[in-house]
Amino acid sequence: MPTLPDFQLLRPATVQEAVRLCALHPGSRFLGGGTDLLPNLRRGLVTPGAVIDLGTLDDLARIQEEEGVLQLGAGVPLAKLAADPRVQGWFPAVAQAASGVAGPTHRVTATLGGSLCQDTRCRFFNQSEAWRRANEFCLKLGSDTCRVASRSSRCYAAFSGDLAPALMVHRAELELLGPAGSRRLPLSAFYRDDGRAWLALEPAELLVAVRVPLETGWASAYEKIRMRASLDFPLVGVAVALRRQGALLRGLRVALTGVASRPVAIPGLEELEGRPLEAAALALLAAQVGVGTHPMGTTLAEVPYRRRVAPILAKRLVERLWAGATS
Ligand code: FAD
Ligand code: SF4
Repeated sequence: MPTLPDFQLLRPATVQEAVRLCALHPGSRFLGGGTDLLPNLRRGLVTPGAVIDLGTLDDLARIQEEEGVLQLGAGVPLAKLAADPRVQGWFPAVAQAASGVAGPTHRVTATLGGSLCQDTRCRFFNQSEAWRRANEFCLKLGSDTCRVASRSSRCYAAFSGDLAPALMVHRAELELLGPAGSRRLPLSAFYRDDGRAWLALEPAELLVAVRVPLETGWASAYEKIRMRASLDFPLVGVAVALRRQGALLRGLRVALTGVASRPVAIPGLEELEGRPLEAAALALLAAQVGVGTHPMGTTLAEVPYRRRVAPILAKRLVERLWAGATS
């Protein structure tokens, strides 16, 4: 991989200063652990003149409980998130997703904020400049043609972060800070179905924290299919949160990653509430997951495989949680 290009490295002392510096340097990027940004810089996929290091901001690295919410700082490393007993106890899917990102050394550095804001991915994009030039570039950068869907005017690069679906099924909310002040946004509203503009971040806006409500009675889990089990992005990742009361299902939420330019919350599952988890319910679940799963040819794995595996993963997780859930 080529060496890093030149850029200005800025080290703010506060989150307010980080936002101010970002606004002062249009096109600059925040730096969490750098495990997504630095490879992309080295490949020439992003070219910021300035990089704003968030690593020294202690405020971003805290996990704290307040008024029915667990607040996870955007700078919390994934290894710390996965090992936190409150996260493991309240949000097993989140701990499982964090512990499945890349490899162990990677997770010591990689942050929650970086995971949620990471770039979308495609086999025609995450390549060296020489490779991309030889293939005449693509719509996401350097050309007006998408190599996956040649007649398309949009990019289908896939959002492949593991944490987003796991946090979505726990109804997480984001705390954002920008030049105009702070605001809160449901995580489900943070993403757009566009491989080139996949985040609803305003210019110079910083993700400060993720707030996850402490809801009782929910069991959750996350699982993904990947090429290399020891270190890889999800080809498909599925998060499930389920609430069981006796013989009846009282709540079911399913979210997917790796199958679109944004994480997908599966609609239509309310219909299953108040019903036992019998074959018809599982068939409806599988059908709904199928409706929400439209992967494009952005990975080396074939599209039909990714489409087939998503409902299977979802059913497997739901059955496992149902069997283990206490009423
Ligand atoms: P960074 O690289 O620091 O940042 C990523 C992006 O987010 C940048 O654009 C940055 O500007 C922006 N950003 C960072 N923090 C903030 C903030 N607080 N507010 C606003 N914007 C911010 N990811 C997975 O989900 N699953 C995997 O299995 C996986 N495997 C990987 C394997 C390899 C070999 C590599 C190189 C990467 C892999 N990744 C994977 C991608 C990435 O490493 C992780 O998602 C990681 O969590 C990114 O976090 P980071 O702190 O390193 O992000
Ligand atoms: Fe490029 Fe198309 Fe892949 Fe987007 S989906 S990165 S435009 S080839």
